Amino acid sequence: MSCAMIERCGAVTLTSPEQNAVQVRMLAECKLSTGHAGVLLVERRGSYPLIDLQVLKSSSQQGEVASGTRRKVQRQLSFQRYCHASRLLRGLVPHAPLSLHLLDDGYLGQAAHMLSKVGTWNFDIFLFDRLTNGNSLVTLMCHLFNVYGLVHHFQLDMVKLHRFLGMVQEDYHSQNPYHNAVHAADVTQAMYCYLKEPKVASQQLSPLDVFLGLMAAAAHDVDHPGVNQPFLIKTRHHLASLYQNTSVLESHHWRSTVGMLRESGLLSHLPADMSQDIEQQLGSLILATDISRQNEFLLTFGEHLDHQDLDLQLPSHRHFILQIALKCADVCNPCRVWALSRQWSERVCEEFFRQGDLERKFDLEISPLCDSRRLRPAIQTGFISYIVEPLFDEWHRFTEPSPLSRTMMGHLHQNKARWSRL
Ligand SMILES: [Zn+2]
Repeated sequence: MSCAMIERCGAVTLTSPEQNAVQVRMLAECKLSTGHAGVLLVERRGSYPLIDLQVLKSSSQQGEVASGTRRKVQRQLSFQRYCHASRLLRGLVPHAPLSLHLLDDGYLGQAAHMLSKVGTWNFDIFLFDRLTNGNSLVTLMCHLFNVYGLVHHFQLDMVKLHRFLGMVQEDYHSQNPYHNAVHAADVTQAMYCYLKEPKVASQQLSPLDVFLGLMAAAAHDVDHPGVNQPFLIKTRHHLASLYQNTSVLESHHWRSTVGMLRESGLLSHLPADMSQDIEQQLGSLILATDISRQNEFLLTFGEHLDHQDLDLQLPSHRHFILQIALKCADVCNPCRVWALSRQWSERVCEEFFRQGDLERKFDLEISPLCDSRRLRPAIQTGFISYIVEPLFDEWHRFTEPSPLSRTMMGHLHQNKARWSRL
């Protein structure tokens, strides 16, 4: 990176989340030149778990991190933060918004056929992603926006919508085995299934509810660095200090989404108070995916169900159900058919183990789920027992009688038993 020279359009300060989100977007306008003519560094943006491996290596060999070296690491992390925040630093932008394939081009016949069954639970998002040439998230979102008439209702500009969705899809890291745009598309498809649940849909969700639910699902992990919050904290990543070690990733996903909304101008025609409300509600939904807040949500959800006092005529209760639905969609992999569920399991374990390998290599404490010496089935059964089952037990109670929930619970139990036998 030392050969890279950055010409920035504006000064960058990261003293507040709002500035961070906006500045990350501003940096997209950066121009990059390198010491080697014609060679652009293909790197991801600012959230990538950037550690100067060389510095850490030499530090660990010396047995201690000298204060000078520590300052050097911090300086380099700071520099890399700016470098990687520029999308142009990734080299060529593969998909300009207007070059995205549109379904009505007739180019994507098979994908269009799949979309006619987008509400079915065995929807194969991996196949759909291949058929759309890696554009599953944009294609799915455009389709669902049309299904619900959201473009017309909110008078959205199609060019701005494509620009926004293209940015969101691009800002997922395709190098991540799990937290990539296909995961976002998968969560969005699950969210669509949950929005169609009779218990939810019959309460007449407003267009705004649907808009928020789909947008939050699509963007809920945007720019995920492929490592977890403890890793960011112990490597003193700038995002950890920016968000004070609390909901670090979720806050970044939300603020990045806000930045992209503003950069694309998607909501610029709406009254200011309305677009601000949308930004805040998106934040509330995305922050709900913080797994460390699971008990808080489960407790509240359980109390509502016990007292049977959920009234979906109330906007606040509908918002709460959207939060729960998004949480379910985010961890629904074990509720899919085995063939799909197993693929997701392999991907998430690979991402965990990559982090664990990095931690081991640099003498950092290995995170519990990231130790490749642990067996994958044990990780899966633990995840199902402690995270997925408690949540879906309650969702099943809420949606009852629901054929979809019965199907999901059936898969969940079968998959858990299958992992136990492996
Ligand atoms: Zn997720």
